[in-house]
Amino acid sequence: MNADSNPSTSTNPSTSTIPSTDPPAAENGPPAALAEIRIDAERIKNEVLELAEIGRDAESRGIYRMAFTDADMAGKRWLADRIEQAGLELRIDGAGNVCGLLPGDSESDATAERRQGPRLLVGSHTDTVPCAGALDGALGVLVALESLRRMREVGYRPPFSIELISFSDEEGRFGGMFGSEAVSGRLTLQRLRSAADLDGIRLWDAMQRVGLDPIAALDAQRDPNDLIGYLELHIEQGPVLDASRTPIGVVKDITGLFKWAVTLSGEANHAGTTPMDMRRDAFMGLADFAHEIPRILAENGSPMSRATIGRAQILPGSANTVPGLVEFSLDVRDISEEVLRELSLACRRALSAIARRRELKFDFEQQSWIVPVACDPAMTAHLEAAAGSLGLNYLVMPSGAAHDAQILGGVTPIAMLFVPSREGQSHSPAEWTNWHDIEAGANVFLQSLLRMSQPASPTHSPPPSDRQERSPQT
Ligand SMILES: [Zn+2]
Repeated sequence: MNADSNPSTSTNPSTSTIPSTDPPAAENGPPAALAEIRIDAERIKNEVLELAEIGRDAESRGIYRMAFTDADMAGKRWLADRIEQAGLELRIDGAGNVCGLLPGDSESDATAERRQGPRLLVGSHTDTVPCAGALDGALGVLVALESLRRMREVGYRPPFSIELISFSDEEGRFGGMFGSEAVSGRLTLQRLRSAADLDGIRLWDAMQRVGLDPIAALDAQRDPNDLIGYLELHIEQGPVLDASRTPIGVVKDITGLFKWAVTLSGEANHAGTTPMDMRRDAFMGLADFAHEIPRILAENGSPMSRATIGRAQILPGSANTVPGLVEFSLDVRDISEEVLRELSLACRRALSAIARRRELKFDFEQQSWIVPVACDPAMTAHLEAAAGSLGLNYLVMPSGAAHDAQILGGVTPIAMLFVPSREGQSHSPAEWTNWHDIEAGANVFLQSLLRMSQPASPTHSPPPSDRQERSPQT
């Protein structure tokens, strides 16, 4: 499939991809010498393998670098060392985001402490879910690092500064997107004080425990006028690229989502003496709801809708007791905010009806609501042009997973690049991408950055003054 190497026609109608309508802006390429620069694939490989050992469990082979744990902090320190070794200017902001700056011409006369001015952010995250694979987030950070390192090695000074940023708690130990929300100015003191993980450990305490001042996270906010855009490479975490043997995905929309912590409470009672018709069995309520999910999606969702109950706890949790309480997570996604609202209402209605029928009490706490976001057409055209110039096939596609790019999309133009996930596997030790696909993606990333920082580039001009009004809902 996709043997055609013409980038403007390399979409595959048999997959859920959206064809590109704009022809790639191929003419705004970098000068010939810059167009020849390639990343050092061996260096990325070594760093991927080295970072993967931090927080690795010997038995399951899974990686455990959940936000603000010792392993996560060790990962951040490792990255900070790499940034310094690469000759980039290291800074760790109040949210614990690890940053490395390649100063551009516009900031060349300032000292490291006094630098300010419009900059293009590039990055991802190094925190993980429990029992994770080696590439989710980490690959985006390491490809961005390698790209800036290569630019510096060849003596390329971009017209504006380019900054690597590795965001804290993308994966959601404390709700997710913590670092990018702080940078985007969406972090509130209330969330900072109230957020807790699934074991009840408060974000505030977890940050203090590793020597971070929680309140300083509010200082991590950037002025949107100082942001030119944000570019992120990520593994697809789905099967589309792998199945169609396409090395590159150019993201068009990023899915939105809501996450609930749901509680159904009934009455714990003896499993032998309580007749079936006199029970208030909380688990049966959960089972009813799980059974209704396909109907809710079919009636209220779109073909892009997804709903998952990924965690459930049955209490008191003994084999001979009718469960009096269940607590479970609900994760619902779509690329339309309107559809998400519909789904949220439908889930609420269904849970209320089940609770009434089974004489249970239904409660939920909305832990996050992330709006879908569209990628910037000008930046996306650079990704397509870079892939085309390297002779690589690509698909223009939506992202089903949430990413930091989505949060940044509220304040600055964003673009995202995907590389294939073998068999679509992610959030498990089986997560993998072939080295040659990683190399291809990294070269597209580097060449895209070079294109974006050429004088004729649409992203080169200062951001328009209405940038603050830019809404991810659009
Ligand atoms: Zn990720």
